[in-house]
This record gives sequence, C-alpha cells and structure tokens, in this order.
Amino acid sequence: MGKRFRIALLPGDGVGAEVTAEAVKVLRAVEPRLEGVAFEFEEFSVGAGEYLKSGDPLPEATFQRLTEFDAILLGAMGLPQVRRPGGTEMTPQLDLRERLDLYCGVRPVRLYHADHTPLKGYQAGEIDFVMVRESTEGLFFSRRESYAPDAAEARDTMRISRAGAERVFRAAFRMAASRRGLLTLIDKANVLPSMAYFRRIFDEVAAGFPAVRTERVYVDAAALYLVQDPRRFDVLVTENMFGDILSDLAAGLVGGMGMAPSADIGDRYAVFQPAHGSAPDIAGRGIANPTATILSAAMMLDWLRGTAAGGAMIRGAVERFFATSEERTGDLGGRLKTSELGDRIAELVGS
Ligand code: ATP
Repeated sequence: MGKRFRIALLPGDGVGAEVTAEAVKVLRAVEPRLEGVAFEFEEFSVGAGEYLKSGDPLPEATFQRLTEFDAILLGAMGLPQVRRPGGTEMTPQLDLRERLDLYCGVRPVRLYHADHTPLKGYQAGEIDFVMVRESTEGLFFSRRESYAPDAAEARDTMRISRAGAERVFRAAFRMAASRRGLLTLIDKANVLPSMAYFRRIFDEVAAGFPAVRTERVYVDAAALYLVQDPRRFDVLVTENMFGDILSDLAAGLVGGMGMAPSADIGDRYAVFQPAHGSAPDIAGRGIANPTATILSAAMMLDWLRGTAAGGAMIRGAVERFFATSEERTGDLGGRLKTSELGDRIAELVGS
C-alpha cells in the first residue's frame, strides 16, 4: 500500500517563494526513490502579500484548511514596509506556532564546508549541534500587547509555564539521547526569577533521563562559548527570545541564514521553514540560497512517518554538493542562482 502525504505550501513573502520552489523540486526528486510514497502539494497565500490583498495575513478559512494537511512547508513571511497600524510587522508564522501549539523549535546547525565559517580550523561536520527553542511563550509571550506612544512605560513579560517548560525539555532530552547524549540548558537563572524556575523544572525533567549528560550555561556565556568552541555542544535548549537570538548567531557560524534550516514541532502539527526571514534586500533576483529550505524539507521527511530515508537522501545530496563543487550562491561568495543550486541538489539526490 502506497502512502500519500498532503503538504501545504506557504511560500509567503520576499525570497519565500523562490526558496520554497527549490525545496519542492528536491522533494519531487526524492519521491520516486521512496517506495510507495507520493507527495501532494497545495499552495496557500499567507503573509504580508495576503494582508495587502485581503486585510488579513492569515485568513481564518486558510488556517482551518491548513489543519487538514500532513505537514506545512513555509518560505518566509513579513515585509518591512507592510506594517499593522501599531507599527509591528506581519508575523503569521508566529501565529501558526501559537495556534497549532508548535512548542518545539528545532534548529540544526551543521558546517557543510570549512570555507563557510568565520572560525579558524573547523572542517565540514565539525560544527554539528541542535538548538531547541521553546516557541509558544517565553519573552515573546506579550507580543500582542501595544502601548500608546505617550505611555510612561512599556513592559514585556517572560512567561514560563510548568507544562510549557516540561514538554520542550522532554523533547530536547529525547533528541540528545538520539545524538551524542549531551543537553545544555541556556538560561539567566542568576538574575531572572522566571529563569531560576525554568532551571528547577529542567533539573526535575533531567532526573528522568539519566543517560543524558547535562550542563547549565547562562545565556551571555553561551554566546561566548558558541563562538569560542561550538564543538562542545550537542543539543541546547532555551526559552523563545534567547533561542531567537542565539540561533541567528549559530547560523553565522556555518554560512549565514541561507544555511539554517528549522522546524516548529508540536504533538500533532509541524511547520518546516528556513530560519531566515523574507530577505527583502535580495528578493526577486533569484539569488537567495535555498539550502536552508531544502534542509527544512529534509526535516519534514524525518518527521513524517515512513519517509526518513528521504531526509537522509537530501542531507547526503547537500553534503556531497558542498564537498565536491566550488559553486556557491552569492551569500557564500559565488554566482550560482537559486534555481541552479536547487537543480544541483535535486540531481545529486539518491546518486
Ligand atoms: P526575520 O526577522 O523575519 O527573521 P530578518 O529581518 O532577521 O528576518 P532575514 O530576512 O533573515 O532578516 O535576512 C537577514 C540577512 O540574511 C539579510 O541580509 C538577507 O539578505 C540574508 N539572507 C536571509 N536569507 C537568505 C538566503 N536564503 N540566502 C541568502 N541570504 C539570505
């Protein structure tokens, strides 16, 4: 019996459509190599462009339809010139995380070529860790608040709930157990009471995973160690805002945003998207690096049931491309177009 997977495509804004098309191209190359597996794609308009058309960046009818799919593959959303009356950008990808309860933000960070890192002495594969970011609360919790310009003060709340912390810690422990067995908690427990609470819950959950070694590092020191010695990390887990910042820093260690895949995973739904935004500075020119999105599609195959071999095929193709070719997109100093890189990786799939 074959298995048909229905995938909702949300190309979004800016470079989103350009990079999503390449991920679909690579998935189409994988499809015939997975016995009995078929992918069916349906595209939806969500994001700043949709806001300009309909007044709602994520129309309710679209949201309802998305819940019928096996997985969601997203490009990027938001444009700096398209803002809500309060001044904030469209962020339907954050709305999706909250509404679909995608609490576990997974960002694998892997060096595919020594030339991609600003650090000295690292070969391909020597930077290889996963950042797990709690994605439904933390310091993003009060993002819907608004303040009048003449307000005397403004506050953002760091919300850490017991249930929210426990579930993301458990996911991070399971991930560490399946890798090199080290989990690093990143917090600010020396200053913020919410973070001391976060750390206590981490310690409680840790007791259930005796095979995983743990360490606890303050967020400022984590920024230092990530640059000084990223080899020491395996899986890192942290709250929403710290994860937001450190995952961009981590992307910078392996070639920038074009090399940084991401998945937002809940107990029932999951969204796969590059860690980058809509990159309006390079959009529309066909020069964005699609690797992050292609690797996010590989994560989607890891997550769907019965397609993990396809995820490994995609990562293998990306690895072989960067190991054997000197061609690169502009962000990595080359002249390759977005679609050409997609072609190269699609050709290498399964070869
Ligand atoms: P957001 O807040 O939505 O995550 P951002 O404003 O932080 O977005 P990005 O859109 O991620 O920013 O872009 C940051 C920088 O990285 C820009 O200079 C952009 O051109 C570059 N960049 C992002 N994605 C890619 C890509 N796929 N290929 C090449 N360069 C990229």
